[in-house]
Amino acid sequence: MNAIKRFSQYAFFPLVVIGTPSAIYVLAQNGVSVPIATYLVIVVLGLLFWLAEWLMPYRTEWNQPQGDLSNDVISGTVAYIIMPIFLKPLYIAMLAWATAWLAIAAGGSLWPSDWPLVAQVVLMLLLGDAGRYWGHRLAHEIPALWRFHAVHHSAKRLWWWNATRQHPVDKAWFTFTEMLFPVLLGADGLVLALYLGVTATCGFAQHCNINLKLGRLYWFFNVVELHRWHHSKNVQESDNNYGNNLIVYDRLFGTYYHPERQSSSNRKVGDIGLLNTDYPQNYLGQLTAPLHKGLDKQKPKV
Ligand SMILES: [Zn+2]
Repeated sequence: MNAIKRFSQYAFFPLVVIGTPSAIYVLAQNGVSVPIATYLVIVVLGLLFWLAEWLMPYRTEWNQPQGDLSNDVISGTVAYIIMPIFLKPLYIAMLAWATAWLAIAAGGSLWPSDWPLVAQVVLMLLLGDAGRYWGHRLAHEIPALWRFHAVHHSAKRLWWWNATRQHPVDKAWFTFTEMLFPVLLGADGLVLALYLGVTATCGFAQHCNINLKLGRLYWFFNVVELHRWHHSKNVQESDNNYGNNLIVYDRLFGTYYHPERQSSSNRKVGDIGLLNTDYPQNYLGQLTAPLHKGLDKQKPKV
C-alpha cells in the first residue's frame, strides 16, 4: 500500500501535466470544438485534483472549508469562466495592429507553425511565463497593483480551487502580461488551448492540498512546495517564486526560494495568507477591498 501511495505522489503531476493537453488534442482531432474540449478536460482535471486531495492530503485541516467556499466559487466563476470569454479576444483585437506590423516587418508570421506541436507549446510556455513573471512580480512590488493582488493572497488554506481566487482587475492584468508575447508573435488557437491545459494543471498543482513529490521536476515547474512558499505570511518568503508555470525565470532573476532543497533543514512553510486579520473574506468585501487604503497590508516588511 505504501509503495502504491509513494508511486502516486511522484506519478500524479507528470501524468496530469502530459495527459491534460493530450486529452484536449485528442478531443479536438475527433471533432469536438477546441473551446469545449478545453473546458471539458479542465473540469475532469479539477475533479481529479479534488479526489487526490482526499486520498493524499498535505495538511488534513486544509480539506475542511473555512468559510471560504462561496467566495472561492464566485471568484473562480467570474475570473476563470466569465472573464476569459471576452478577455483573450479583447487582447487579440487590441494587439492586432502590432501583431500585423511585426508580421509585415518580418515578411510573414513570426510564429513557427511548422515546428512540432510539442515544441510550439514549450515556446508558448517560455513566452507566456516571461511576461507573466514580471506581471506577477510587479503586482508584489507596486502598491497600486498589490492592492488587487492581495485578494489572491488572502486565502488561509490552500486547495486546488483557490487557484482561481483573483480580483477581476488582477485577473485582467495577469492575463495581459501572460498573453502579450504569444499574441504579438501570432500563436494559433490550438497551441493556446494546449497551453491552457498545461497552465490549468500547474495552477491546480500550485494550490492543491496534495502531498505530491516532484523530485527533479522542481528544476522546471513552479508548483506544490514552491508555490506554498509564495503564499507564506512572511513577506520575505512570499516575495519569491513568481513564475506562472515555470521556475526558470525565478532562477534567472534571483527570486527562486525553496528551503527544502536549498538547505539541509527540510523546513516547511508556516502560516499562509495576509498579516491583516481584518481583511474581508467574502466576495463583495474583497471586490471593494482595493478601494480601502491599508487593508492590503501583508506587509510590514520584516
Ligand atoms: Zn503573488
